[in-house]
Amino acid sequence: MPLYDYRCTDCEKPFQVRHGFNDSTPPCPHCGSVDVQRLIKTAPSQARGMLTNAGDSRGASKDQLRDKWAEETPKLRKQLVDKLGEDTVNKYAPTLNNTFE
Ligand SMILES: [Zn+2]
Repeated sequence: MPLYDYRCTDCEKPFQVRHGFNDSTPPCPHCGSVDVQRLIKTAPSQARGMLTNAGDSRGASKDQLRDKWAEETPKLRKQLVDKLGEDTVNKYAPTLNNTFE
């Protein structure tokens, strides 16, 4: 089972828990609070990698870029949301909510 990093929002101590992907969030081992936050360390680099792939449009005209953006961005955003969750995408890739310009 994978090891997850959490941080307790009550006592602000970090902790690690090994549990299954679909298991619910564990309580804080320090204070017992269930108000804990999962730390997703790989999210920014994953999001960046996907953004780089979608943005590889050197030499394209502005209209082509705009079309590509309009076509690719909702798909890319959906992929990221499926993978990382709505909150993470809004936090690390807010530009995906924008239109081209
Ligand atoms: Zn705690």
